Amino acid sequence: MTTEIVYGQVTGLIHSTESFGAVDGPGIRFVVFVQGCKMRCKYCHNPDTWAMEGNNSYEATVDEVLEEALKYRDYWGKDGGITVSGGEALLQIDFVNALFHKCHALGINTCLDTAGQPYLTSHHVTELMDELMSVTDLVLLDLKEINPARHKELTGNPNDHILAYANYLSDKGIPMWVRHVLVPGETDFDEDLIALGNFVKTLKNVVKFEILPYHTLGETKWQQLGWDYPLVGVEPPTASRVQNAKNLMHTESYTDYLARIHKN
Ligand code: SF4
Repeated sequence: MTTEIVYGQVTGLIHSTESFGAVDGPGIRFVVFVQGCKMRCKYCHNPDTWAMEGNNSYEATVDEVLEEALKYRDYWGKDGGITVSGGEALLQIDFVNALFHKCHALGINTCLDTAGQPYLTSHHVTELMDELMSVTDLVLLDLKEINPARHKELTGNPNDHILAYANYLSDKGIPMWVRHVLVPGETDFDEDLIALGNFVKTLKNVVKFEILPYHTLGETKWQQLGWDYPLVGVEPPTASRVQNAKNLMHTESYTDYLARIHKN
């Protein structure tokens, strides 16, 4: 069997798809949300993706997913393409790798939306990751908290390997959009915002660095699952706190900053 056929038969466990994603990478994108995540972010708005096998998840081959996605290719223009999100996309790295290889063979732009939690620096994982990165055009990387203790409290997981993943992407030269969800009382601390901004500045290939203000839309999903929502009563950040975070993290002047460091 040729590699193309083998890739086409690799299966993934899919939570859902979105035909016209507008916030999951550049342009209009077909977004594949895979099932399964080992993080437990208090503000997660997709907690129904956590279980490794969900009530409504389904198995699909790369070819089946591509067949569905290609119906929308005319809408993608020059910037759009396919994004794999989750859940945690890297928990199904074989599937994403096979899908992105086939995408590249067809000239389709690929974007990986991840929190980086599964990243380990073992030889096997790095080899697989290298293969995936060779066909990944952009990584959307969520950095949830720079402070290790607060990160653990917020997500149930340490952040050392996530920061290691950011460094790995930097070393590999993979373009990144770094995103930070600003949650009052959870991720909105001046000292952490400054430290996160400083960390991001050490990364070589960040093309966008943005703050996503927390919103409460996920609460309904927790209720539907019969779970207690951990952030009851937490309101979205005020405009002045969002501006404060932008100032401390230098997100607004990031383009200027990039231009300056690349000039020097
Ligand atoms: S990493 Fe994403 S999907 Fe997983 S718990 Fe956090 S917000 Fe939810």
